[in-house]
Amino acid sequence: MKIWLIGSYGIVATTAMVGAKAIEKEIIDTTGVVSTLEDFKAIDDLIPLKFEFGGHDIRALKHNAYEVALAHWEINKHFDFKILQEVKNELELIKAKKGTALNCGPGIKALGEIEALEDENLTLKEIVEKIEKDILEFKGNDEDIVVINVASTEPVYEYHSEYHDSLEGFEKMIEENKKEYVTASMIYAYVALKNGIPYANFTPSAGASIKALKELAEKVGVPHAGNDGKTGETMVKTNLAPMFAYRNLKVLGWMSYNILGDLDGVVLNHNENKKSKIISKDSVLQKALGYSPYSITEINYFPSLQDNKTAFNFIHYQGFMGTKLKLYFIWDAIDAIVAAPLLIDLARFLIFAKKKSLKGVIQELGFFFKSPLDTNIVNLHQQFEILKDWFNKNLK
Ligand code: NAD
Repeated sequence: MKIWLIGSYGIVATTAMVGAKAIEKEIIDTTGVVSTLEDFKAIDDLIPLKFEFGGHDIRALKHNAYEVALAHWEINKHFDFKILQEVKNELELIKAKKGTALNCGPGIKALGEIEALEDENLTLKEIVEKIEKDILEFKGNDEDIVVINVASTEPVYEYHSEYHDSLEGFEKMIEENKKEYVTASMIYAYVALKNGIPYANFTPSAGASIKALKELAEKVGVPHAGNDGKTGETMVKTNLAPMFAYRNLKVLGWMSYNILGDLDGVVLNHNENKKSKIISKDSVLQKALGYSPYSITEINYFPSLQDNKTAFNFIHYQGFMGTKLKLYFIWDAIDAIVAAPLLIDLARFLIFAKKKSLKGVIQELGFFFKSPLDTNIVNLHQQFEILKDWFNKNLK
């Protein structure tokens, strides 16, 4: 299978490349990869664990994926160095193409020297054409291909019904070069879907979630899924919140305080970029409990932690006879290690969906996301059962 990663030089993307190639070479086992569970065994024959990677980025473009993975490794030491050495030759062949950072917010500029297509004085149409050319060259005649967005989080976009609510309006925006109304994630999603390539949005950015692009997916007949990978604190939250509901306990308040370093932390340290993430993290409580308890959700930059995200949670709830009770938990994990295997899953399940002629938003992939598109089901156990049922139903 071919996987085109937007943000291919980030830590999640490079960790996914290293891990996938290591699985292919049978150097590591598949712990963490959901689609290799017994429940999904039948996917092995349809979409084997063989990978080709490509992608867009906007920094470090003179380097190859091995050099970038090594730079992330030197800071984080997030897996056994031998694994990286075993896939060195394969990763050296992967070079990111220059992408677009249109309206990606001030957080992106903090990443350092950015090289993006819009700096070449291109029109919106020309940017779209360049992105399209790169992806189609990578695709060749292969049908088992997917585009996954793992780029830095964009700010919440400024909604404009004229351009975001219909495909006609979106294409008019491109023709009329209205750059101010588009974000980079929309452009990548547009190119993928237009060319019949399944698309997953692992970030809280807009991507294919706007009406215009949902319409495009339906029209072309291509599946997509998003938004924002559910990998850590929110995964635990969507386990615990249903527990309170089942036991008829009333959640009075829920505080989530996240600290992280690394590039993701640098970008989320900017309020505009951070807002998208907070909305995504915050919305699950209402959906899981059926009401919105008092909540505090904070994300702060903590440089020395690098990719080791730590999330402190305090839950105040009311039990029998009005007595107030408390629960505390701390999530402490390497963000890229919990995220990377899910890219393999999303690629496999979306290619599976395409093979089965499914189109539009695949709600049943909500299991993988904090803000699953077109569904309010966030309970992780329920989502897992839905995923299994969907897979088995469509196998036939
Ligand atoms: P990162 O900062 O290491 O990587 C992001 C990469 O995207 C960088 O290489 C950056 O240069 C590139 N980029 C930024 N804007 C771009 C654009 N417009 N086009 C192409 N490339 C662009 O971040 P990460 O830790 O790898 O996380 C990637 C994304 O995944 C973030 O949006 C993060 O919020 C999201 N996410 C991560 C996790 C997790 O790590 N557990 C969970 C859910 C969501």
